[in-house]
Amino acid sequence: MHNFHSVLPLPSEKVLDKRIDLHSYSSDASYYRYIPNYIVIPDDCQDIRKLILWCKTNKSSITFRAGGTSLSGQAQTNDILIDLSKSWKNFTIEENGHIVKAQPGVIAGKINEALAIYNRKIGPDPASINSCMIGGIIANNSSGMSSGIALNPYNTTVSLSFLLHNGVFLNSAEKKADNILKLTSELIYQELITIKKDILRNEKLVKIINEKYRLKNTIGYSLNAFLDYSKPIDILSHLMIGSEGTLGFVSEAVLKTFEESQNKLTGLAFFKDVYQVCSAIKIMREKGAKVLEFMDRTSLRSIENIKEIPQIIKTLPEETYALLFEFHYHDDNQKSIIEKEIAIELKHFDNVAEYFLTSDLSTRANLWKIRQGLLTSISSMRKSGTAMIIEDFAFELDVLPYAVQSLQRLFRKYNYNNSAIYGHGTDGNLHCLISQSFNVANDKIQYEKFTNELTDIVANDYNGSLKAEHGTGRAMAPFVKKQWGEEAYNIMVRIKRTLDPDNVFNPNVLISNNEKIHLINLKSFPIIGEEIDKCIECGFCEEICPSKNLTLTPRKRISILREIERLKHENSPLVDEILKNYKYYVLDTCAVDGLCSIKCPIGINTADIVKSLRHLINSDTQKKNAFHISNYFLYYEKCVKILLRIVHKVKKITGDKFLTFSSYIIEKLYKQPIYKWNKSITKPIKISHTSQVDADFIYFPCCISRLMGKPNDISYKPITDVLLNISREAGYRVMIPSDCEGYCCGMTFLSKGYFEAFSYIFSKTINKMWEWSDEGRIPIILDSSSCSYTIKSANTHLDEKIMFKYKKLKFLDIVEYCHDYLINRFNIKRIEEKVVLHPNCSIVKMGLTDKMITIAEKCSSKVIIPKNLGCCGFAGDRGLLFPELTQKASHCEAQETIAENANLHYSSNVTCEIAMNEATGKQYLSILYLLEKVIEK
Ligand SMILES: Cc1cc2nc3c(=O)[nH]c(=O)nc-3n(C[C@H](O)[C@H](O)[C@H](O)COP(=O)(O)OP(=O)(O)OC[C@H]3O[C@@H](n4cnc5c(N)ncnc54)[C@H](O)[C@@H]3O)c2cc1C
Ligand code: SF4
Ligand code: SF4
Repeated sequence: MHNFHSVLPLPSEKVLDKRIDLHSYSSDASYYRYIPNYIVIPDDCQDIRKLILWCKTNKSSITFRAGGTSLSGQAQTNDILIDLSKSWKNFTIEENGHIVKAQPGVIAGKINEALAIYNRKIGPDPASINSCMIGGIIANNSSGMSSGIALNPYNTTVSLSFLLHNGVFLNSAEKKADNILKLTSELIYQELITIKKDILRNEKLVKIINEKYRLKNTIGYSLNAFLDYSKPIDILSHLMIGSEGTLGFVSEAVLKTFEESQNKLTGLAFFKDVYQVCSAIKIMREKGAKVLEFMDRTSLRSIENIKEIPQIIKTLPEETYALLFEFHYHDDNQKSIIEKEIAIELKHFDNVAEYFLTSDLSTRANLWKIRQGLLTSISSMRKSGTAMIIEDFAFELDVLPYAVQSLQRLFRKYNYNNSAIYGHGTDGNLHCLISQSFNVANDKIQYEKFTNELTDIVANDYNGSLKAEHGTGRAMAPFVKKQWGEEAYNIMVRIKRTLDPDNVFNPNVLISNNEKIHLINLKSFPIIGEEIDKCIECGFCEEICPSKNLTLTPRKRISILREIERLKHENSPLVDEILKNYKYYVLDTCAVDGLCSIKCPIGINTADIVKSLRHLINSDTQKKNAFHISNYFLYYEKCVKILLRIVHKVKKITGDKFLTFSSYIIEKLYKQPIYKWNKSITKPIKISHTSQVDADFIYFPCCISRLMGKPNDISYKPITDVLLNISREAGYRVMIPSDCEGYCCGMTFLSKGYFEAFSYIFSKTINKMWEWSDEGRIPIILDSSSCSYTIKSANTHLDEKIMFKYKKLKFLDIVEYCHDYLINRFNIKRIEEKVVLHPNCSIVKMGLTDKMITIAEKCSSKVIIPKNLGCCGFAGDRGLLFPELTQKASHCEAQETIAENANLHYSSNVTCEIAMNEATGKQYLSILYLLEKVIEK
């Protein structure tokens, strides 16, 4: 058993050393696999300083990981991996939105969200912006489709705070920073001056450096710092940018922000061949295009079946290239000038189809779907068992068409038949997607030959950049010399030696003595199942996951499944160690809310994977029991109600703490997770059935409302009474069927992988609803959003007859009912009191967040949606079985909510309300109660 962390100079709660943790961190978005020895979650620079010093004496090394979205293997190690994504999350906006100060664990997209009110954004705009973090953006010098070189971190960072190998902390914004550097780190200070002199003495080198940075370039260290700055502190802080964690630790970055234009014209044009599209890029760049996204035919083919995309794409000839372009304008006059100029310019080309040009928001969004869907669609075309490699080059526009053709020839030579080329035309920045297997020895040989030829073409034949934005990493470390030449390379080696003499920071990344480092630890992709095999381990799904701070994220769940297969294949005994924690980490603590599928560029729903895995491990007896419950649901429901009423009575005598404590004791004795009591558990309701003739709506109180639909505070009526009263006042005839008890959407069975039980009770419920609703004529109101979502999204485990009826039924979630049918029927007495909302994940997935906000805004002048809004992790009954999941999942949102100090809190799902009550100590109710509060009687 691994127990080394006890020797690390940090408390054990900051070190993860379970085998399952170590292997869950073995992947980032690159095609390398390194299993760290320890994972450290530091809180402050002091922790990191201790680790650096410890590494020096123990010949160890540290690698930082922020979002882990890097593509070149630079966020990986088999030594100490420092995870910055858990803390380091503070940022402030200053100078009226013109400046941002951010710690390395802040997701860049969150900064832009906060800057939106100033109409501003940060400069770098990588496609991964909603997942990657400031630490990674700075350390990779990341850019994107519109930032180009001018707005990359190197050019838009005002100052950096960082820690050096000797434990010295520097803030380049401080007036005395240069002096502090000199006094504390004399060797570094002097060597930076010497290197600068050496470069300036060497005209050839100066020329090379200037030339290299005319293009986007993230290969090697930022040598331009020696030409652009004179003070060692400024040189050093700019060297840190793009250094991929190999020179020190960046603890804070201060970045300039830029105006975000609200007036955009987006166009899509199609060209006969690569020459024409490249000359169009040149012309449009001169005309001031902000975005010029270039796509080859393979790229287009991958997205041509998407519904909203222009149908013409399907019919385009084989050699076609497309250009998605965007211009910004100040006023209508400028807009029409741009429109006319584009029309004139495009006439000069043999356009293979009519071009599109629009300023309309939704049409623009549809055009953007083409570009945004590329990675998804190309990735999903790849064979199971292969890695997706995203190459990233930049060329002068003059040579771009020739370079594209050379690359295409090379791909054909190596049988990368589905390879696609697309990229940011403004910077001659091409991304090539190829799928490559690393499962057998020959794969590696092929990849080695291919890479040698590829780097020759890019660096030697076309003098291009081997990595324009993704960083050198391990993938290109052996080719830095090929790109830069001997002299520049030697300077880079001097930089590394001076700033990291003991090789503590991220060894073998960016600079490596090992000429084959790019061929070591290539990631094999075991074939497991269609859904899992598609995963490219990009990590875009991690931040949203409610279990991220307790056990695993979706990417890590998939990584563990792959690790188990790999280790089994290797006959490794480590697999048993992983399996010890497998059930709790992979299965039990997944909330199966499916939020990950919203963020996944490939649409992978880890919840579905987990449900299937739960299904696999359910024993026959468990399956039988589940089926029995679904079969006799009415009786079980009655029993649970009686039990709940008894427990509520006992609670009056013993108090909540005793009940909670007792449930933990019983769990210990029983040795299986059982439901744990908490003080927010509400009471069963007595349903007032209504036998309305000619009902306008059927109201189906969901089973969770039937069991817990009465808030504990006696001043509140049960949810069913509130809904009926408001509906009556609105003039609707609403029927609660007299036989509604005993029916259920089956979510609890589905989420636990009891598919037969789910299918049985769901079908039974649909048959009943068919009857109640006069074969689908009358809409059915559902009062719990998670049940609405389960019902609305059901598409598996059901037979055709049921599907036929199901498709004819009309369902209304409580939020839709309030928004679409109720609110406008009343005079509202808008309150001044603050209202905090928790739009739960079902609301988010059903796209009803805006409706919920609209309802709240009509009722109150102060509506708060917590910035840290997320899934509460209660997930049906997970919060009762594993309360720690809910505690971790809701922590940030709860802290923010408590700080708001509001009295009114609303959601639309009983269990989420219980979870948020517990997390905040505030009373959460269904949004229906807000409406009840404000309507003028
Ligand atoms: C689908 C996809 C699309 C992408 N598109 C783009 C794109 O358009 N443009 C682009 O530039 N990149 C892109 N990338 C690559 C990647 O997302 C970016 O480089 C991103 O900025 C990396 O950030 P991260 O937070 O994930 O960093 P990580 O991958 O965690 O780390 C990146 C590097 O930074 C170092 N590091 C992190 N924090 C610190 C710190 N505090 N101090 C010192 N070193 C540190 C790490 O050691 C590592 O070397 C894409 C990746 C994917 C998967
Ligand atoms: S599940 Fe999707 S978002 Fe998550 S790592 Fe895999 S591909 Fe990326
Ligand atoms: S379903 Fe939810 S808890 Fe499970 S992996 Fe996806 S986001 Fe995480």
